[in-house]
Formats: sequence, structure tokens, C-alpha cells
Amino acid sequence: MRTMAALARTPGAPLEVGEITLDDPREDEVLVKVLAAGICHTDLSAAAGRLPVRMPIVLGHEGAGVVVQVGSRVSAVKPGDRVLLTPDFCGTCRQCRLGATTYCERTGQLVFGGTRLDGSTKASVDGEPVRAGFFGQSSFSEYTLATERNILPVAGTTAPLAHLAALTCGVSTGAGAVLNALQVRPEQSLAVFGTGTVGLAAVMAAKMVGVRRIVAVDRHPIRLELARELGATHVIDTGVHADAAAAVHDLFPSGVDRTFDSTGVPAVLGAALASLGTRGICGFVAGTGATLPVDLGSMLIKGAQLRGIMGGDATGLVFLADLVTAYEDGRLPVDRLVTTYRLDRINQAFEDMRAGRTIKPVIVFDDADR
Ligand SMILES: [Zn+2]
Ligand SMILES: [Zn+2]
Repeated sequence: MRTMAALARTPGAPLEVGEITLDDPREDEVLVKVLAAGICHTDLSAAAGRLPVRMPIVLGHEGAGVVVQVGSRVSAVKPGDRVLLTPDFCGTCRQCRLGATTYCERTGQLVFGGTRLDGSTKASVDGEPVRAGFFGQSSFSEYTLATERNILPVAGTTAPLAHLAALTCGVSTGAGAVLNALQVRPEQSLAVFGTGTVGLAAVMAAKMVGVRRIVAVDRHPIRLELARELGATHVIDTGVHADAAAAVHDLFPSGVDRTFDSTGVPAVLGAALASLGTRGICGFVAGTGATLPVDLGSMLIKGAQLRGIMGGDATGLVFLADLVTAYEDGRLPVDRLVTTYRLDRINQAFEDMRAGRTIKPVIVFDDADR
């Protein structure tokens, strides 16, 4: 079938919105009409050529929509179901069998490779193969193919898909870091560096489990104000306090128990590490291609840990289902972060996100479901 999609052809160039030809669903695949697709920093990095993706590729990995058609072996969803799409995983490697699906050993192929497990592509344009399986979904497209593995039915909720889409990667990454990986307890202190979607999700998740001391660190005062409204008890504006670690120690002389860097900027991650108190843990979620000099002696004496966290340590579709419930209960107000754009304005949405004008841009395909 023919479908409109945003195609990344050249690293660093704007996306090209136009028609592509999508395969019919195979026996284990699901054809989804995408109604909303969030934009995540990973999409920006991929479009800029900073990630190991091959072009032409359709990006987008926070999809939500309605099932149109299913392959003969699909039983988890049926046509008409409202669904969320998650990053794909193979389901059979050792990490997947252990439930650590965000560490799937086939991530390189299923997430960044943008092909099926057998290496085939799912789409083409003028006869040229197009990678339409970015994160197993390539959701910057009116129609896309997913599999049973990475699709969560959300029939029970009437919440706007433009809000639920935001839960699937960025929010899952930030909330999961706090809830699954760092397991921050109410009596512990947490400092969150960077208050985009991932950082604000970490703040919201910490508030959700009753953490009483939550520090938000950023250079955008407007975002810090939002962080306060969403649960931060202290904020540090790095436009005013250039040495963020010193500012954290001004607030908490012994340092904090857990820090979380959502920026992937080595200097910021260094500040997050330096803000730790004894036996503290610093989690980080970005930093491809970056290196960081680390004061090993200081880490050793403190018994500190530095921990990479992929996809919020989510387990298959289970954690996402929990986040949907938390959103419905009002405990995870992601709608506060979302700004919607039409597909033909996707390059503007990328630009607004890059500039920090928009926290979570979401592409919407149908006015009825904003
Ligand atoms: Zn796997
Ligand atoms: Zn993402």
C-alpha cells in the first residue's frame, strides 16, 4: 500500500514528507494506522547521523494508533484495537528470556537497523528499499507495520493517543530509571539533570513513589518552573549556578543518594556523578560516542556507582501498561509536556525540540484524536 511518511535520506538534512510503498503484513505482523507519534531525542540524533542507522529510513518510535489488519499468526490484537507501539525486541535471546528486553541482543538490528529479524526491509520508494522498522515501528508514517511483540492494546482507556504515545519511550525511559533501575525510596534524595521529557518523567515518577527531596537541574528557567509543578522540591538553574555539583552540595552538604542524567552531555554527567553522596548511584540514559574522565579514587572511597540504563529497564509491555494506568490515575500528567504538530510540520517540530521551545512534540495524523 501507499502511505505518507517522513523520510530521512541524508544525515543532517530535513526529513522529506512524501509517499512510500509499504509491504502487506506478513503472518506475524500487524498493520497499524498511526494516529500519534511522539518525537524523542533519539529521532533527532538519528536524523543528524549521530546513531548507527542506514538511510533512507523512516524514523519515529513513539507510535500510537489503531490496528487495521493482522497476519494469520497474530492473536494479541485485532482490527479496530487502539494500540501503543514500543521499541521492538526479539523475545528469544538470553536477555529477552530474562525479561530484560531493553537489552535485547538483536537491538542493533531491530531498533537501529530498521529491518525485520531476517534483515528484509518493509517499504520502498521508487523501487529503492526503505528501512521502515526503526525501533520495530517507524511511526512517522500514516500506516506502519509492527509485530505482536511490540504492540500494547489500550482498549480500556479513552485517553488521547497523543498523550499515551509520549509514554512509550521518553517517559518510560525517565520513569523506569527511577522506578526500575535506581529504585529510589521515599527517604532518599534524588537529583535529576536535564528537564526534557526524560528528566521530567523521572521527577514525576519520584513524586509518584513519595520521594521527599527531588532536585531538578537545568539551564531553562521555564522548564525548572514546570519541574517544580510536577514534583521537584528544589531547582538549580545552571544559568545562575554554573557549578551544578557545588550547588547540589550547597543544598545537601553530604551529597544526594541518587542522581540521574538525561542529557548525555559529558560535563553534565560529570556533575551528576560529583553530586553523589556516599554509596550513591548515578544513572544515565544517553551519551553515544561520548567519553568522560572519572575520578576513580573519589568513586572508590564513596562506593559510588555509575549505571547505564536502557529504556528504563522496562520489561516487555508490562511496564508500559503500568505507566498507562498511572497516567489515567493522574499520577503521571504527561499531557503537561505535549505539543502537537501535523506530519507536514515535522521539521518545525524537530527544530522546536532542538531549541528547547517544545518539550514533547507529538505528530498527530487525525484531528479527531488530538
Ligand atoms: Zn532479544
Ligand atoms: Zn526514544
